[in-house]
Amino acid sequence: MIQVSKNAMFHVHTYRCRHATGTDREYIERAIELGADQIWFTDHAPYPGDKIGTRMLFSELPEYVSTMKALEKEYARDIDLKIGLEMEYLPSYENYIRDTRSSGDFDLLILGQHYYERPDGSFYFGRRGEDCLNERFGQCEGMVRGIKSGLFDVVAHPDRIFRNCTVWTPEMAELSKKIIDAVRGTDIFLEMNYSSSIKKNHYWTEFWDMVPKDVKTLKGLDAHEVAALRLLDFELVPVR
Ligand SMILES: [Zn+2]
Ligand SMILES: [Zn+2]
Repeated sequence: MIQVSKNAMFHVHTYRCRHATGTDREYIERAIELGADQIWFTDHAPYPGDKIGTRMLFSELPEYVSTMKALEKEYARDIDLKIGLEMEYLPSYENYIRDTRSSGDFDLLILGQHYYERPDGSFYFGRRGEDCLNERFGQCEGMVRGIKSGLFDVVAHPDRIFRNCTVWTPEMAELSKKIIDAVRGTDIFLEMNYSSSIKKNHYWTEFWDMVPKDVKTLKGLDAHEVAALRLLDFELVPVR
């Protein structure tokens, strides 16, 4: 089980994903300045073949790992740097995810089910024109299968699957229950996501109210810019 400190900067991206800004050093130095004792880099993972855009290429993964390892050593006296990846669970890439996990290069894998694989083997990328309004069903199923695969340490922003919903419904409670039931009795954390909490309808207290005490939770930033770093020593409040 991963050990995340109270003053951690958890879930931080890098410029490699092509939709985040700032250098690795700027994130690390700002985290130290803010009093963090850990920084958990979890950039979006590439997949062999690079079918998913706006993230690092598969060929760039070794550089991410070697740079992070060097920075971990360099800043060891000031901060505990952890190296991870945020990945979707895609059944046809399960072996790749397993190999990534067992490579020994990463301190953790977080499950960020932004996209999913349909039963016919095609992929949902959440692009304009796709049926984004119903994405929660595919995301929920992918997430539950990802949790059951045992390949992930944390489920990122589970309630973000409801970002296209406007009012809480019994159907959403049913989907939430599937996710919560899947993590019960495991060492997998559900992540309360700061970045979701400041976006309309991305963070649902109704979801978190359903999570029983014996389920592990943590707070993550999902930082895509240095200015997003902060200590999450406060209760997340959703914007509506
Ligand atoms: Zn991102
Ligand atoms: Zn993220």
